[in-house]
Amino acid sequence: MSHSSADQTREGGTSLYRRDRFLLEDELVYLDGNSLGPLPRSVPDRLASAVRGEWGRSLVKGWNEAEWFDLPGKVARRIEPLIGADPETVAVGDSTSVNLFKVLAAAVGLVGQRRRILSDAGNFPSDLYVAQGLSRLVKDGFEVAALPSEEVEAAIDDTVAIVMLTEVDYRTGRRRNMKAVTEAAHDAGAIIIWDLAHSAGAFPVRLSECGADFAVGCGYKFLNGGPGAPAFLYVAPRHSDVVSPAIAGWMGHAEPFAFEPSYRPGEGIKKMQAGTPPILSMTALNEALTLYEDVDLAALERESQCLGDMFISAVMQHCPDLELASPRTAAERGSQVSFRHPEGYAIMQALIDRNVIGDFRAPDILRFGITPLYTNATDIQRAATVLSEIIHGRLWDRDAYRVRAAVT
Ligand SMILES: *Cc1c(COP(=O)(O)O)cnc(C)c1O
Repeated sequence: MSHSSADQTREGGTSLYRRDRFLLEDELVYLDGNSLGPLPRSVPDRLASAVRGEWGRSLVKGWNEAEWFDLPGKVARRIEPLIGADPETVAVGDSTSVNLFKVLAAAVGLVGQRRRILSDAGNFPSDLYVAQGLSRLVKDGFEVAALPSEEVEAAIDDTVAIVMLTEVDYRTGRRRNMKAVTEAAHDAGAIIIWDLAHSAGAFPVRLSECGADFAVGCGYKFLNGGPGAPAFLYVAPRHSDVVSPAIAGWMGHAEPFAFEPSYRPGEGIKKMQAGTPPILSMTALNEALTLYEDVDLAALERESQCLGDMFISAVMQHCPDLELASPRTAAERGSQVSFRHPEGYAIMQALIDRNVIGDFRAPDILRFGITPLYTNATDIQRAATVLSEIIHGRLWDRDAYRVRAAVT
């Protein structure tokens, strides 16, 4: 491979590889940053000072003294360039599921007479559940049509109110063409909502350039914000003055501290903030995002594709029992590679036991996230070798590896 991270360092080019800025043990190959990003080295001290210094000493004065009140906005300004969003178009807080509810509810107010919410039956279940729940709540004929993945794009027509899709499929890693699908939705007169859970921080996302209407995404995957980190939502500037938030909370009010009895929405994206932000997790995410300050996202994407190709070649050569579930062509994938095997769960447990961490997604998917910030060609080769040893020696074939934990 022509430009592994190690080569780039040797050539003195921009090095993306910065494993020393994460707390990761040397012998660990971590291919699960798409499920939970690892701990950035600077986060524990920053959190300790936020707890002891800010919360402990400033107490309620922290809202002003430590600028807690402005923190969600600061984090949003860091996320915007990562997803190709203009300034002041992103709000940070809540979970991805809650943010999806918020943007869906906002979109419902923009759709005229149409009532179909079109999605992908292979979408992340929470996305489908939230859309179904919202449809039940608003009634008025709203319904969710979740079609097989490969049929969704052809089904975008003038009956569709909202197209709700995840850019990168959480199981297969297949990546949709955001620009083409957004255009198709708009040509049909529909609103489009993108879920960027497996996109943000993995490759350059171009929300504004593609003309997306709304988007949501996750803070704890590629953005390394920690378990349960605040998520984000995006509202295109053309909509933000028009939509009215379903969760009209005081933090989205024009003047929260005027304590008025009636809601007056804050300007633009501000109104999408609902309640008091979780300052400690917000602090961790803000600190984690400093890792992206000098990352060239296009280079990150190229490197991730290169490592993904390398992993696919090695696994397909040595483990013919595994079926590639991801597109072979790098441009059609996000930053992950998946394989199918009927004993996928046990195989993944055997891998984890040998310090190669990926995850399993029912019914039969072995999923490997690739993050060139801390994973290089040596790690990829090692993961492929260990996987091959497990398959050839049937090392997965033990009862202990079949016991399913609560979280897989
Ligand atoms: C991980 C993921 C989520 C996570 O939702 P939470 O509400 O943060 O738990 C949502 N959508 C997709 C597509 C995901 O992959």
